[in-house]
Amino acid sequence: MLRLANFIDNQHLPPASGEYLDVFEPATGEVYAHAPRSDAADVELAVAAAQRAFPAWAATPAAERARLMFRLADLIDENLDALAAAESRDTGKPISLARTVDIPRSASNFRFFAGAILHSGGDFHETDQPAVGGPLHALNYTLRRPRGVAGLISPWNLPLYLLSWKIAPAIATGNTCVAKPSEVTPVTASMLGHLVSQAGIPHGVVNILHGEGRPCGSTLIEHPSVPTLSFTGSTAVGKWIAAAAGERLKRVSLELGGKNPFIIFPDADLDAAVSTALRAAFTNQGQVCLCGSRLLVHASVFQRVLDGMLAGVASLRPADPSDPATTFGALVSKPHLDKVARIVDQARALGATIHCGGTRPASLPARCRSGFFYEPTIISGLDPSCSVERDEIFGPVVTLQPFETDEEALALANGTDYGLAASVFTSGLTRAHRLAEQLHAGVVWINCWMVRDLRTPFGGMKASGVGREGGAEALRFFTEPRNVCIRI
Ligand code: NAD
Repeated sequence: MLRLANFIDNQHLPPASGEYLDVFEPATGEVYAHAPRSDAADVELAVAAAQRAFPAWAATPAAERARLMFRLADLIDENLDALAAAESRDTGKPISLARTVDIPRSASNFRFFAGAILHSGGDFHETDQPAVGGPLHALNYTLRRPRGVAGLISPWNLPLYLLSWKIAPAIATGNTCVAKPSEVTPVTASMLGHLVSQAGIPHGVVNILHGEGRPCGSTLIEHPSVPTLSFTGSTAVGKWIAAAAGERLKRVSLELGGKNPFIIFPDADLDAAVSTALRAAFTNQGQVCLCGSRLLVHASVFQRVLDGMLAGVASLRPADPSDPATTFGALVSKPHLDKVARIVDQARALGATIHCGGTRPASLPARCRSGFFYEPTIISGLDPSCSVERDEIFGPVVTLQPFETDEEALALANGTDYGLAASVFTSGLTRAHRLAEQLHAGVVWINCWMVRDLRTPFGGMKASGVGREGGAEALRFFTEPRNVCIRI
C-alpha cells in the first residue's frame, strides 16, 4: 500500500499525529494509498519552513527563479507516464485525458509563469500639475514585491493542474508557499514534491501538506503568517474562506463552482455545436468546473440537437480509466456518485424525461465492478427554476431547455447564482458580441469550449468566485505594489 508523506522544507515527513487517511481508487472502489491526516502541528512546521525560505527566495534574481521553474516543467514532462497513471488512478479519469491534458498543462503552467516573470515590467507615470509656487513635476514608479507565504488550496478534479496553476505564479513572483491538495486525490501532488527537490528549488519554497479541509486547510487559511490565499473549490467552502480572510484582512482569490450555459442558435454549424456540447457536458465525467451542464437550444433545432447528443453519447461507454482506449471513466468518490444519483432521482421525481443514463452502468470490466461509475445522462423537461437546473451537479448530467428568442436565451443563461463560463454557438457576429457582453460569465466562448490562453484572465463572477487568475492578473495578485513618487 502506497504511504504518502508531507513535503516540508524539501523533506518527506510523516504527519505529526501519525494518523493517515484512506485514498480510494475510483475505478475499483478500493483503498490503494494512505495520505497524512495533517493537523495544526504540521501546518505550523510548513508555514515556518516557508517563512524561513522567503527572504532568500524573494531576493533570488528572477532569471534564477525562472531557470528552476523551467527545470521543474521539464521534469514533469520527463515523468509524464508515471504522473498520468497516478492522476488517472487517483481521480478515475481516462488515462488518455490525464496524458494529453492535465499533466502537459501542469508543465505549461510552470513554463508560462517562469517566462512571464522574465518579461513583466513595472509601471511608470510622469506627474505634471499646477501647484502653488510653480508647476509640480514628479516621477512615479511602482515596484511590485512578493507578499510572503501563500496558502494554496485546490480540489480533486484536476489535482496537479490546479495546484501548479497556483504554485507557479506564487513562486515565480518570489513568494514561498504551503499548498494543500484535495485529500481525495493527493498522489500527484506528492510526486510533485519529489520533482521540486530534483529541480533544485531551495528548501522551504514549496511545501505540500496533505489532509482534510478541517483542520488542515482551515488552519492554513487562518494562520497569521499567511497573508495571501488562493482557493479553488466549492462555493460553500469559498464563502467560509472569504469570511475568514475578511476578518483577518488577507488577500484572497476564490475560484468556485459553475452551472455553465451552452447556447445553440439555429444559425450555428450544428454538427460542430453538438460535438462540442458533448465534450463540454461529459469531459472528465462532467467534473470540470467549466463543463457546459445546461444546454439551451433554440426550439427549431431542439430535436436535432437532442438526437445528435444521444447518438454521440453512444460512443461514451464507462470503462476502465487505465485503458488507453477509454473515453469515459469513473466519478471521483462514493459520496460524489451518491450525490449525482440523488440529483438525477430528484429530476425523475419532478417528472423530467431522462433520455439516456440515469443509472449506474449495467456492465463493467471485472476489475471495475465496485467502482464509482455512472452513465452519461441527458435530461429535459424540467422547470428552469428547479434546483436541478440551478445548482451545480458536477457530474455526467446535462439538462436541455428550449428557447425561442435571444432575450429568452439570455434570461435562462443568466438565471442561476453562478457566473463562471458560457458558450454560444451562432454564425451571427452581432448576436455573438451582444451576448458576450450581456452574459454573466467570467469566460465566454463563441463557437468553441475550453480553449485556454494562459495570458487571459480566468475566473468567475457571482457565486463562481472573487478575483481572477491567469497571466498578468496572477502576477499582480501575488505581489504588493509600492508606489514611489520623486519630485524633480
Ligand atoms: P471542496 O470545496 O470540497 O474542497 C476543495 C479544497 O478545499 C480541498 O482541498 C478541501 O480539503 C479544502 N477544504 C474544504 N474545507 C475547507 C476549509 N474549511 N478550509 C480550508 N480548506 C478546505 O471542493 P471539491 O469537492 O474538492 O471540488 C469541487 C468543486 O471545485 C466544484 O464546486 C467545482 O466547480 C470547483 N472547481 C472550481 C474551479 C474554478 O476554477 N472555478 C476549478 C475546479 C473545480
